[in-house]
Amino acid sequence: MRILVVEDESVMAQSLRTGLEDHGFAVDVAADGEEGLWYAAEVDYDAIVLDLMLPKINGFKVCETIRDRGDWTPILMLTAKDGHLDEAEGLDTGADDYLTKPFAFEVLLARLRALLRRAGSERPVVMTAGDLSLDPATREVRRGDEAIDLTAREFAILEFMMSRVGQVVSKTEILAHVWDFAFDGGPNIVEVYAGSLRKKIDTPFGRQSIVTVRGAGYMLDSDGG
Ligand code: CA
Repeated sequence: MRILVVEDESVMAQSLRTGLEDHGFAVDVAADGEEGLWYAAEVDYDAIVLDLMLPKINGFKVCETIRDRGDWTPILMLTAKDGHLDEAEGLDTGADDYLTKPFAFEVLLARLRALLRRAGSERPVVMTAGDLSLDPATREVRRGDEAIDLTAREFAILEFMMSRVGQVVSKTEILAHVWDFAFDGGPNIVEVYAGSLRKKIDTPFGRQSIVTVRGAGYMLDSDGG
């Protein structure tokens, strides 16, 4: 297990490093928020111990930035007892747990282990619409037990539609979520992909889950007709 410790107080940082290494963890130490963000982007850590009061970029901002990157590494936030920023704010920015200084090392270790356990057993969220399922982590799509091969674009469109099962989504909305700014075509491209998706997720199974709503867009129907 590899842990990133972001802590500017060198005595604290060193004692965390030594303690964690003694318990079999591999540890990197970053001395400020900027360095912490750099490490977090470079290495896929199992957990991050993040001090709140840090030079350059504070712990809240670091946490928020990591989450904005779509990185869900468990974060244990360290807060000072007399800190004016409360723990609720730490959790709001995406920290998984917090610990108030001063703390016993054993407590930190226990909290860290709890976070690692949770992260390890937690299955990625699989999206479903009836017997259609899509796993954003493994990128697997299935109708019942049957695996379906989609192109990256088809996958992205289906993922977006599955996030809004039973709701009408316009072609423009799909376009905005799935294509980047470099695309200069019109929303009619969505029709082409809706057609190719139907051939993969509906037609072979005798379903009609992608419903055309005239003048409005599409709706993913979990019953599928
Ligand atoms: Ca500090």
